[in-house]
Amino acid sequence: MNSNVLIELSHVVKQFENDLIVKDLSLKIYENEFLTLLGPSGCGKTTTLRMIGGFEKPDSGEIIINGKIFNYLPPYARPINTVFQKYALFPHLNVFDNVAFGLKNRNKKYLLKFFNVDSNLSKKEQNELIKSGINKAVIEALNLVKLKGFENRKITQMSGGQQQRVALARALINKPQILLLDEPLAALDLKLRQNMQYELKEMQKKLGITFIFVTHDQEEAMTMSDRIVVMKEGVIQQLDTPKKVYNEPVNRYVATFIGESNIISGVYKNNGNVAFLNVDFKCENYPFNDNEPVDVVIRPEDFDVVSLDQAKLIGTVTSSIFKGVHNELDVLVGDYKLMVNTYENYQVGDKIGLKIDPYEIHLMKVSDNEETI
Ligand code: ATP
Repeated sequence: MNSNVLIELSHVVKQFENDLIVKDLSLKIYENEFLTLLGPSGCGKTTTLRMIGGFEKPDSGEIIINGKIFNYLPPYARPINTVFQKYALFPHLNVFDNVAFGLKNRNKKYLLKFFNVDSNLSKKEQNELIKSGINKAVIEALNLVKLKGFENRKITQMSGGQQQRVALARALINKPQILLLDEPLAALDLKLRQNMQYELKEMQKKLGITFIFVTHDQEEAMTMSDRIVVMKEGVIQQLDTPKKVYNEPVNRYVATFIGESNIISGVYKNNGNVAFLNVDFKCENYPFNDNEPVDVVIRPEDFDVVSLDQAKLIGTVTSSIFKGVHNELDVLVGDYKLMVNTYENYQVGDKIGLKIDPYEIHLMKVSDNEETI
């Protein structure tokens, strides 16, 4: 990722019938960036992606690509390709022809330029160079998605994962500057999806293409993205690196959507102190006023289980579930139930002590709208 802005959405608004779906959305996307639009179903991620791709027009606002306004240009006139969730492959064509399609349906002028063919050559020579260029490009694209040797396979004889790779190869063959991916892994089983996440990230780094990825799966977003745009009802809630979104969510909505978290009402005290669950804790300095109510976020893995005499909080285990590596506990402190992850084993009914390092306590402004998701 570098600091050159490639795409800018400026005050983009989109309405369907009487529903405002994207509300005054502004966003800058950088060259070589892997950016993910993340949010629950219906929050406007796909609509935003489709406006960037040219499949929908914004009602107002601007979509600027490479410094030029692109609002009204059709998809084929944009330096963009798209991979859809449902692959959209041609079942009657084999793998080669599906991948070649991205180039074959371009006009000759485009292809002469794309393959650097000398326009002074005879028509026959030009056509031959284009044909061999397409052959080479298909093989290269199939190599890239690890489908070398599958050229003659029928699409119907490929697995879901392989079909997704064909769709990727088809989108990459004409070397777009930007690749849009709309939940491309949703139909794959978990293991395959995890492999593809890793491969997509590697591919993006290697090719230096800007990827804009849409998902409702927060883990997927965390694994692959340079930055994540968390959306709710057509509005960006937070735009940050995965680490920041996880460790420093700006509000309850983000904290709840990204991973598990305890969100506890507290009161900020001057100079990096916060009181919650009737106990004073040291935290980092925040720009809150003395005695200002705050929402305190503590991730379940950020509690230390300690002996009772060292504890800041003492609670009773009300549930303990083994999760493979760690145990997930519910711990009742007063009448508040905390989620706590620990590698140690505890039984329901055990009394345990908890401590939290100051930098693991994250404070947020109390949301006006307490609704989460
Ligand atoms: P999902 O993950 O379910 O696709 P999303 O966040 O991508 O969700 P969008 O597909 O952008 O959401 O849809 C947002 C809202 O806009 C939905 O309520 C949807 O029904 C509506 N919508 C999208 N496209 C159209 C359309 N062409 N006509 C009417 N309503 C539409």
